[in-house]
Amino acid sequence: MRYYDKLIFELSHPGRQAYTLGCRDWEESSLNIPENLARDCAPALPEVSELDVVRHYTNLSQMNFGVDTGFYPLGSCTMKYNPKINEEISSLPSFSHLHPLQDESTAQGAMEVEDLLKKYLSAITGMAGFTLNPCAGAHGELTGLMIMRKYHIARGDFGRTKVIVPDSAHGTNPASATVCGLQVIQVKSRPDGRIDVADLDALLDETVAGIMMTNPNTLGLFEKDVLEIAEKVHSCGGLLYYDGANMNPLIGVARPGDMGFDILHLNLHKSFSTPHGGGGPGSGPVGVAAHLVKHLPVSPLDAPVPGSDPAGSVNAYHGNFAVCMKALAYILMLGRQNVKMVGPLAVLNANYIKESLKDCYELPIGDVCKHEFVFDGLKDKSTAVTTLDVAKRLLDYGFHAPTIYFPLLFHQAIMIEPTETESLETIDSFIEVMRTIAREASENPDIVKNAPSTTPVRRLDETGAARDPKLNYYES
Ligand SMILES: *Cc1c(COP(=O)(O)O)cnc(C)c1O
Repeated sequence: MRYYDKLIFELSHPGRQAYTLGCRDWEESSLNIPENLARDCAPALPEVSELDVVRHYTNLSQMNFGVDTGFYPLGSCTMKYNPKINEEISSLPSFSHLHPLQDESTAQGAMEVEDLLKKYLSAITGMAGFTLNPCAGAHGELTGLMIMRKYHIARGDFGRTKVIVPDSAHGTNPASATVCGLQVIQVKSRPDGRIDVADLDALLDETVAGIMMTNPNTLGLFEKDVLEIAEKVHSCGGLLYYDGANMNPLIGVARPGDMGFDILHLNLHKSFSTPHGGGGPGSGPVGVAAHLVKHLPVSPLDAPVPGSDPAGSVNAYHGNFAVCMKALAYILMLGRQNVKMVGPLAVLNANYIKESLKDCYELPIGDVCKHEFVFDGLKDKSTAVTTLDVAKRLLDYGFHAPTIYFPLLFHQAIMIEPTETESLETIDSFIEVMRTIAREASENPDIVKNAPSTTPVRRLDETGAARDPKLNYYES
């Protein structure tokens, strides 16, 4: 272990300190803490110099893997590179110093940013109106489902309590429906990975509020029957919800609004230039077709709009403004022409990897994919090497693992999404490493089974770390 990788408490040295304002007299006299509340011994804080702190945290940051340090092909996540200039633009003081409660007349620029963004998102998705209030994809889903429920209730149709969700859906879909008080019914996928329309037929009746779909779906496949599905769901009185978290493959190519979707959310923190991962600020704008605009939620700050019948409020203010600002900067910087390249490049990169590796990895569905695709483990099933082993071995070669063991349709799922931002050279080197690992799995499986061997920590008990985190330092 490197010295500065130790816990900060282990670096502690009595009496050592960083910078201090020398005015101790002033500090002590101004505190005025009542005697009975004052502590009788000093808090157990690490005593370290400024240099110790800087090195410790810089070293810790280097133990992490991020999209700024390497290729990160996590499927269903869109871990693409986002231009740093958008961060700078969103932190311009004239925007970052605004307060949501300041007078409207002094925030006209920010309001124009919001209006423009809604206009461009409407143009890209084919929807009639947007709210920027939701702060994440799942928050957008909940908002969209609230609108769906409001629509039925406002028409006096009280019996629609079920939402149809495909078995390949992102886990947030059934979770959001449940949080919204709706009952989830699952529709099966066909062997070709698409929604089984015959299975859907059997589910449609007057208790269905709508269906949630992802298209291209979570296997990266385009739901070719979407128009037929839209027709069926609409004619039974339900609405179509589109999960647009990973909008990359469609941007500039096709619009959910034209496919018959009534409601959708986008993840600005996947497809529109806010980096994601680690739970940073996100934004999940919700767009709706014309007949639902009156049900868009309102912020408590908004003046009531005559004729509107909002589905409630989902944010005390307007949403994560800086994330919206980055999305607008991104769209404007690409411009009308280049924005049309996003989808085709995301699709080309994914298909290139799929075709280059399908002789070494099991490809259960061989169609042209969109932005992502799924392998079902190694082609050579005679080795004991699992998908987890392959994922860990990738770290030794400086690549982050793809999504593994999701979707649940395949036992050894490896889900790869290269995104549109990677160069041919990066993608080629990833392909080469994946081929090397497949060879190692046959010739020297122990190397793969014991990976990673070059990372600061080896295989961890990931479930234990999540279920039983150790958040305090106790001297042993
Ligand atoms: C990421 C993702 C979500 C959820 O978005 P969050 O911002 O994490 O809540 C929903 N659906 C799909 C398909 C996703 O990829």
